[in-house]
Order: sequence, then C-alpha cells, then structure tokens
Amino acid sequence: MPNKPGQRPTRFCVFCGIADGSESALFFRDGERRFTDSRRGDPSAPWSDERPEVFVFENQFLFFDLTSLVIPLEHSESAIPFYSQQSELWSNLGEVGATARDHGMQTVEWLRDRNADRAPAGYRVFCNFGSMGEQSQPHAHLQVHAAKELDASRWAPTGEPWLEAVTKNGSTIVHETESTIFYDALPTLEEGRSSLWQVTVSVGFSAPHRSLPKMALLAVPREAASQWSMWEDVGQLGADVVEYGAEASPGGFRVMSNFPGQQSDEEFGPAHVLLVGGSHLGLYADYF
Ligand SMILES: [Zn+2]
Ligand SMILES: [Zn+2]
Repeated sequence: MPNKPGQRPTRFCVFCGIADGSESALFFRDGERRFTDSRRGDPSAPWSDERPEVFVFENQFLFFDLTSLVIPLEHSESAIPFYSQQSELWSNLGEVGATARDHGMQTVEWLRDRNADRAPAGYRVFCNFGSMGEQSQPHAHLQVHAAKELDASRWAPTGEPWLEAVTKNGSTIVHETESTIFYDALPTLEEGRSSLWQVTVSVGFSAPHRSLPKMALLAVPREAASQWSMWEDVGQLGADVVEYGAEASPGGFRVMSNFPGQQSDEEFGPAHVLLVGGSHLGLYADYF
C-alpha cells in the first residue's frame, strides 16, 4: 500500500517519500514545474487536488539539461531480485512510459524556446536493472535525459539511423517472441570503435572503461509502429525485453529508447528499444 499524504513511510524509500511529500522535490506536472519543500508542508504538493498514479520529478543529480525520474506511485513488496519492481513496471509500462515520453518532449521544447542553439535535438528514456545496470533504487523508475552532447545517439557509427544499420542484415537475429524480434547490435558497434565518443553515447555505458558491453540488442516490434506511437503503450514488447534481459544477463542490464525532439512520425522513425548488458555498464551519466 502506498503511504497516505503526510504519513511517514513504513519503509525507507526515497521515491515513496517524494510521492508522499516527506522528501522535497521539483515536480513536473501539466507542463509546470513546482518545487515541494517537505519542511514547509508546501500546499502546492502535486496531489493537493488529485493524487496522480505517476510522478515526474527532477533527479537531484543534474548531469544534463534534462535529468528526470518518472515513477509509479505504487511500491510493490517484490524485492528479489533487486530489479523485480523494474520488471513489474515493464510488464505493463502503459501510462508510465507515455508520461516519460511526453515529459521528454515537453522539456526539449521548453529548452528550445529558451535557447535554440543550446537545445538538445532529442532525448532518451531508459531504465536500469540490477547492479550491472547501475540500478540504485528498488522502487520502479524510468529516467529521462537530454543534452546537446547526447544527440549523436540516434545514429549508428556509420551515420545511418540505428534501426536500419542493425537490421539490414537478417542474419543478426538472436531471439524472437510473438511480439518482438531481437537483433544483435554489436557488429554495428564494433564498426564504430574508432569513433568511441559516438559509440559510448549511443549505448550509454561508461566511456572511461573503453570497452563495449558484451550484449547489445535492438528489440523491434513485429507490428509496425513509430517510436512515438509504440510508447503510447509499450505493451508486450516491454515484457518481452525485460524477460529476455533477465535471462541473457541476470546480473543486470539497461533498456533505452531515443526520441528526436520533433513531433512527426517521420522524425521518430520505426519503433525500437535497445537492450544492453552482459557486463558492467558503468554509471548512466558518465558518458564522457
Ligand atoms: Zn518506494
Ligand atoms: Zn563502472
């Protein structure tokens, strides 16, 4: 059961604390930013009118122009493995995924209005699983990042869009489910070894380690959709991706999708999700 507003959490979870007002946070809701200071019992708490099922707030570690967290209100009792709540979330990503997608777009538009030259061209929604994926909180959460430095992430090292570069060779299929085809993205990454910055940014593992992850798969839904429309409700693809991630890399993994900050299906391109793991991925933020 979630805590009632103003009630102390029955377990220590910083995300539950943020959701029930006992921890301060900068919230995003309905296109507005509202700081809620727990010490002042701030009446502008995002649930003062109607308590949402999904919360969006700024990550206290501001690495980039946009570093937000998107969480469901519910903290389940599931604790083993450490990423079990992340897996539960992805078994039915629904509104949480769509909220992260929308929040990224709104923020990129806001940054563009403030300073068009400095604004990122897109953003990334991702989720860390387990210690190898650098997951730090058990409470389910998606992360949303954007920065001009990350913009190369839409492109394969060859300069092609990722999906086309990885899927043009049908022999790279490594796993299939009823909903999803998993392509091996490592050969495409190998091609880009000389362009380390671009490669590391593309897959989001730590550049200082200077090594590729052992596993990098591109998951593509069988049913054609744009990246934007698929994230309206990721559905079975989300469940299949985390199930295969846990099987192929039980120590942890990372799932991510990149979005261009433009509102058109052509810009978004075909739906796909990148699944990386098999080795320690490094902190999600140390791209440089
Ligand atoms: Zn929690
Ligand atoms: Zn590391």
